[in-house]
Amino acid sequence: MNARRTDVLILGGGVAGLATALACADLGRKVTLLEARKKLGGRAASWTDRTSGQELDHCQHVVMGCCTNFLDFAERVQIAREFSREERLHFLSPEGIRSDFAATPLVPAPLHLATSFLGLKYLSWSDRIAVARAVLDLARDGVRDDADNQSMGAWLRAKQQSPLAIERFWQVVLVSALGESLERSSLASARKVFVDGLLGHPRAGDVLIPKVPLRFLFDVRAPIELASKGVTFERGTTVRSIEGSSAGVERVIVERGQSGQLHAIDCSATNVVLAAPWHLAASLLCQPLQQLLPQVVEMASVPSSAISGVHLWFDQPITPLRHAVLVGRLSQWLFAPNFASVMPEPPPADEHYYQVVISASRSLVGRAREAVIEEVRADLAAVFPRSRAAKLLRWQLVSEQDAVFSVLPGLAAKRPTQLTRVPGLFLAGDWTRTEWPATLEGAVRSGYLAAEAIERSRGSVLSLLRPDLPKNWLARTLLHVRS
Ligand SMILES: Cc1cc2nc3c(=O)[nH]c(=O)nc-3n(C[C@H](O)[C@H](O)[C@H](O)COP(=O)(O)OP(=O)(O)OC[C@H]3O[C@@H](n4cnc5c(N)ncnc54)[C@H](O)[C@@H]3O)c2cc1C
Repeated sequence: MNARRTDVLILGGGVAGLATALACADLGRKVTLLEARKKLGGRAASWTDRTSGQELDHCQHVVMGCCTNFLDFAERVQIAREFSREERLHFLSPEGIRSDFAATPLVPAPLHLATSFLGLKYLSWSDRIAVARAVLDLARDGVRDDADNQSMGAWLRAKQQSPLAIERFWQVVLVSALGESLERSSLASARKVFVDGLLGHPRAGDVLIPKVPLRFLFDVRAPIELASKGVTFERGTTVRSIEGSSAGVERVIVERGQSGQLHAIDCSATNVVLAAPWHLAASLLCQPLQQLLPQVVEMASVPSSAISGVHLWFDQPITPLRHAVLVGRLSQWLFAPNFASVMPEPPPADEHYYQVVISASRSLVGRAREAVIEEVRADLAAVFPRSRAAKLLRWQLVSEQDAVFSVLPGLAAKRPTQLTRVPGLFLAGDWTRTEWPATLEGAVRSGYLAAEAIERSRGSVLSLLRPDLPKNWLARTLLHVRS
């Protein structure tokens, strides 16, 4: 760390660390951020495909219109214009029947999606009615005190949702939003997706898709803006241990590069924000701090859920759609990313790139990769007739086993707040208490909340979180929103 005074030392340069840096720097604090890897952005990362020379994302990320804090962050670090806002989603039934989903103009929330929902041709009328009833019940039951302890799968069975309605509606919406299966997701987290993510406001369900690789957003553009606000970055600096006691953090031990040499950073007059992922955070705390922060230790045993990105290069276009949701199939979303505008070289003209995303993909573990690709190809052939004639030139299957923490029933109460009982030590990360599942929105919220906690510890009470999209009277009433 350089010799200048640092008010806030952030450990971890994912989106949570970057959001903490933004919030603190904008309050006039001197910020230094340490990141173990050479690149910032954490799980929101990209790689370079050697064959085409193109930079691609490990896995497609999208944000929704309801992600008010992420969108605020994006504006403030000058990356908002790098997203395209999609107001219409294309759902393809297993038989290839397309139903488009979009808010009906001038219809107030939460009824703005009713026309699209009633037009879902691949659900029977009795299922459509049963699902609509259950969505309203979910809004009510999901705020009950025990809602976080109930599994969504069990709740749906109690609501007598048919297997087809579960497969073709509930799984489609929730598995990709929560990154977890219905059995392993809590009722409260499912309610969040429907009430805040889809029904609360006509624009809440818009999907924002990056127009550039994630690295451009979080490793290039955001850091440039943050540096202009005085934030210092130390990439390739691995935190080995945070040392201290109930009196506060004394020092942070780091290794720069692969030197093997350890350096101590004196933190007796610095606020330290631990922004590493949930499965690693506790391991960075010395023994006395682990004893003081049992919630952080407990989070290390929260299981991960995997997400897989299947990268496919065809010899011809397989669909004119830029994105599509595949219903009732292993392949859940198809995207056709095109980052040509920011690449030094255009992509080869004879290759057409697509990415299939499979959330909660633990079922792929142990399966031969070729068998997975075969099934994905069969999925695409079933719904995109043009893909049957297309030749698959090459493919990559990227599975991230620690993609997101599981939103298991009972987790909400275990998530620690950003303020800890150790003076000068704060937490950030999508896993801390934000009421959001593992998302970019959750990561930004945690960063803003960490900055709030730092200010509060210095005697200033500030509210840095951006409000949710406003809910009208009808939405508040039908969705049981407590004001
Ligand atoms: C495959 C996949 C798909 C996803 N899709 C979406 C999506 O579509 N929409 C969405 O909103 N979210 C999505 N997410 C979730 C989203 O990426 C995460 O919620 C978010 O990036 C978490 O940010 P974070 O800063 O909390 O954690 P991380 O990104 O994990 O950042 C933690 C940082 O700490 C660093 N670190 C760890 N240990 C040390 C150490 N010892 N010293 C220094 N630094 C350290 C890490 O290198 C990392 O940079 C997806 C995630 C994955 C993996």
